[in-house]
Amino acid sequence: MDSHTGIESLIKTEAQRLGFDACGFAEAQPVERDAVDAYHDWISNGGHSCMTWAERYDDIRHDPHLLLPGARSVICLAMNYYPDRLQPADAPQFALYAYGRDYHEVLRNRAGRLAQFIHDKTGCLSRVCVDSAPMRERYWAQRSGIGFVGLNGMVILPGKGSFFVLCELVTELVLTPDHPCVLTCGECHACERNCPGQALHSGVVDTRKCLSCQTIENRDPQLPQYIVERIGNRVYGCDECQRCCPHNRHATPTRIPEFQPRDEFLALDAQAILNMTQEQFSRIFSHSAVKRAKLAGLQRNIRAIKGQVK
Ligand code: SF4
Ligand code: SF4
Repeated sequence: MDSHTGIESLIKTEAQRLGFDACGFAEAQPVERDAVDAYHDWISNGGHSCMTWAERYDDIRHDPHLLLPGARSVICLAMNYYPDRLQPADAPQFALYAYGRDYHEVLRNRAGRLAQFIHDKTGCLSRVCVDSAPMRERYWAQRSGIGFVGLNGMVILPGKGSFFVLCELVTELVLTPDHPCVLTCGECHACERNCPGQALHSGVVDTRKCLSCQTIENRDPQLPQYIVERIGNRVYGCDECQRCCPHNRHATPTRIPEFQPRDEFLALDAQAILNMTQEQFSRIFSHSAVKRAKLAGLQRNIRAIKGQVK
């Protein structure tokens, strides 16, 4: 399809209106060879650990045309999830992205409205990807200029930090690409030094040692001893490599109401989680990313926390 004069700024304005904090464009091309090789090295070294989904759909993951025939551009979107209220410091800690409504639901809805906007304006189809399709989303975020990948493995938006969730639209629409982000972490290695699992090495996360991956994705009835010894007070996820990052010093609360925590969530303590019934879990977390860990996972993690502090 022909390019549309001025459509780029119309899309960015609409994305902002829909609550996105960054929007960038890249040409839909197969992922570059060195990025494909780095991904294959990570998989063959077992760094993905319990995230076995990372092994699947390798061809689709590295070519957006397999997600949408006729794809011409990738639109990358980022949304701030930093909450306006935090859990008490002595409560079992949840990762900040899990405080409010499941970001998949929030992003799918709003990105879907952007896809409809593009269709209404141009007649072009777009496919929404919110972890629902295999995408190298950090690669595309860098290519589209919205941020760079830090040594903590997170996409860092210049001047805004990394407390953002990402999604993409693969679209038939031809868009003038933005300049890729060329910033780097420089000499800062704060996340590597502060990682409780010592899981970060040269920008690669060893998910076997990562408390975020293990407290959420591990389905075993007991966590590995290595993780138990380092779990601290973390019941779901870990934000240490983001909290210590200088780019997050000035994180500001999200403007998305669905990402704000409810009082019932903020009141949770270890005993309440241990005593929680499935019915209560479903009521509190049915629209939360926390449901991924399941009640059994949360209770296993609480037992690990309590065992450690005995
Ligand atoms: S989430 Fe926690 S354990 Fe995982 S890499 Fe970051 S600081 Fe380390
Ligand atoms: S803490 Fe430092 S090294 Fe780590 S991601 Fe942030 S800027 Fe990069």
